[in-house]
Amino acid sequence: MSYQLEDVRPMFELRKRNYIVTGGAQGIGFAVTRAICEMGGNVAVMDIQAQPVDPEFNRLSEKFGVKTLYIQTDVTKEQDLNAGFAKALETLGSIDGLVPAAGIAIDKPFIEQTWEEFTRIQEINVRGTFFITQLATKQMLKQGTGGSIVLIASQSAHIGLPGYRMAAYNASKGGVLMLSKALAVELAPHNIRVNTISPGFVDSEMTKKVRDMKSQREGEQMWMAPPMQRLSTQNDLTGAVVYLLSDAARFTTAADIPITGGLHVGTIDGL
Ligand code: NAD
Repeated sequence: MSYQLEDVRPMFELRKRNYIVTGGAQGIGFAVTRAICEMGGNVAVMDIQAQPVDPEFNRLSEKFGVKTLYIQTDVTKEQDLNAGFAKALETLGSIDGLVPAAGIAIDKPFIEQTWEEFTRIQEINVRGTFFITQLATKQMLKQGTGGSIVLIASQSAHIGLPGYRMAAYNASKGGVLMLSKALAVELAPHNIRVNTISPGFVDSEMTKKVRDMKSQREGEQMWMAPPMQRLSTQNDLTGAVVYLLSDAARFTTAADIPITGGLHVGTIDGL
């Protein structure tokens, strides 16, 4: 062996690095924001809501000794997105990583999904992800420092489960998954890595809204469907995102990590 083995712990550090998280006012985006801060990274959150829903956001900076910034931004509006990104960059000074977590979903029969609903889902989930990623990539290329981008796909990018009526959402997450693969290949020579996580059903406002579109029995079946027989928590996802952002994943690009309790290969009923 002509090389020394390295310690692993420092590879997971995000200290003094700068990140943007969209959709970080609550839910998965907020959980990811907190995790990055805990690992020493500075984070600018861009979200359509006027202020962070989780009051812990305002304590992250002091608690973890990092910089945080909240910018109200609608990722579907070009000017808003550009202005939000510029503000984030002005405060952080550089961008090392990105997690576009802003997203919406609906659960309703395919033949009832409207033009407006379909369009809104694609605008937020696909177009918003595409253009914030483009802005971050331009900056990373300018810096010449590489970077790590973690897109939030979904089990819905891989499978259409019986009983779930999320065609427009599935289409959007399939788009996000393929976007990550195309970008991973195009940006690899610049040491910009692009990976995805594909969560199953995660306890969040989005999931509550989807559950409200179902009967109680359907909702319970949804939680119990994974072989591990429970709903995912936001904490189930954060370690994977930190890993993909960090140097521990420095030779990993175009990867997708399913975080489904096994649902991506089968349900508890063997369906
Ligand atoms: P959530 O509803 O709790 O959070 C979504 C966030 O996105 C909110 O803070 C919301 O304000 C923000 N947002 C919505 N529209 C926006 C816009 N136009 N501009 C800026 N911000 C906007 O949902 P979540 O469950 O935390 O979902 C986060 C991501 O994870 C989404 O991309 C979702 O598709 C994905 N995901 C969720 C699940 C799940 O089961 N909850 C599973 C797989 C993937």
